[in-house]
Amino acid sequence: MEPQFDVIIIGAGSVGNPTAYYLAKEGLRVLVLDELASSGQGQNKAAIGGVRATHSDPAKIKLCQLSLQAFGHWQEETGTDIGWKQGGYSFPAFDGKVETTLRGLLPTQKRYHLDIDWLGAEDLKALIPGINPNGLRGGTYSPDDGQVSPLLAAQSFTYEAVRLKAVFRYREHVTSLVREGNSVVGVRTDKGEYRAPIVIIASGAHATDVCKMAGLDIPVLPDSHEAGITAPVQQFLGPLVVDIRPGAEGKTVNCYFGQNSEGQIIFCYTPKQLFPGENRTSTSEFMPIAAARMVQIMPRLKNLTIRRVWRGLYPMTPDGSPIVGKAPGVDGLVLGVGMCGQGFMLGPGVGMNLASLVAHGRPVTEPEVFNLLSPSRDLYAGKKEALK
Ligand SMILES: Cc1cc2nc3c(=O)[nH]c(=O)nc-3n(C[C@H](O)[C@H](O)[C@H](O)COP(=O)(O)OP(=O)(O)OC[C@H]3O[C@@H](n4cnc5c(N)ncnc54)[C@H](O)[C@@H]3O)c2cc1C
Repeated sequence: MEPQFDVIIIGAGSVGNPTAYYLAKEGLRVLVLDELASSGQGQNKAAIGGVRATHSDPAKIKLCQLSLQAFGHWQEETGTDIGWKQGGYSFPAFDGKVETTLRGLLPTQKRYHLDIDWLGAEDLKALIPGINPNGLRGGTYSPDDGQVSPLLAAQSFTYEAVRLKAVFRYREHVTSLVREGNSVVGVRTDKGEYRAPIVIIASGAHATDVCKMAGLDIPVLPDSHEAGITAPVQQFLGPLVVDIRPGAEGKTVNCYFGQNSEGQIIFCYTPKQLFPGENRTSTSEFMPIAAARMVQIMPRLKNLTIRRVWRGLYPMTPDGSPIVGKAPGVDGLVLGVGMCGQGFMLGPGVGMNLASLVAHGRPVTEPEVFNLLSPSRDLYAGKKEALK
């Protein structure tokens, strides 16, 4: 069978959609397959839409800088509003330990030209009106970071990719890869078979299963996280606020919230005891714990009305970094998986790099930084990132 496409992407999610767009922009014939009913219906829609380049890992910094450029200029480039709000990120410190951690990251972040600085307590109070002043020592502020609507972004990347002749097929479950010797040359689904010389796996929480189809052992183990959103109120909060103190209730390792472009407060925490697996049923403890933590950080939030909560998956890797690049030992196979809790913000940066890798044989990011994410690295040797 002749190849009908230049590239097949498995997964129309946070990674697959922008990758399709950037590949189609290169003039390549792209097919995207997803088992769900439309784009962004996997973990993409579980994200709260935070986008920051303020990480401690150089590869995440560089890729998210690309994503920020893409999201920040999306409306002027395409005419479509995806809910971009450049309110920045702020990590407040209420104790000396957190202050030392945050200040300790600044030299690395500045080395990568991030616009981030330490603000004293008075400046932080002005930036985050209503923040609890008790014990507040100051915090970091990175004005270039922001928020986007994950669903609007997924739809818009898809729409723009389709305009450039990419093909999206939904409700098609990829069941196996077509192999010729050492090469992957296509995919089989429950509905048919498609051929292309390059296959990109962007299958999120199901990456391990799909990689197994190529005989690869790639550990991507999902654990679940909950989030919620309030009814909209007038804009009063610029930055997305991340409190990295462990909660006094002993159940949370952080808490973060921001006000999106529609005025809703969108919020999350990371549980101390992780929930491995794919259960997406909301728990009864999430809302009381989240509400108490948020009101402790910012007492005025007690007046908000919660609209809904949900639970989704982080596709985790052993070292907490994504797995991006050519698959080891299998020609024609490329991986964009293991996005952990940051796949939405990494998506466009990963997509640009994968499109360049496929079209030009090299990533757009400097290879020595990009290769930190290599599928060939020792996934059990790396240190977890300080800012998760
Ligand atoms: C509560 C919560 C809040 C979060 N907040 C943020 C945030 O603020 N910022 C951020 O950057 N990230 C956030 N994340 C993380 C983010 O949602 C994920 O990292 C990201 O969506 C993963 O992207 P992905 O493309 O790898 O997977 P997905 O978006 O899930 O896409 C994978 C797609 O592959 C498809 N697929 C899988 N297997 C097959 C198959 N065999 N055949 C066909 N299709 C298949 C799936 O249906 C799915 O649509 C959050 C996550 C949660 C749960």
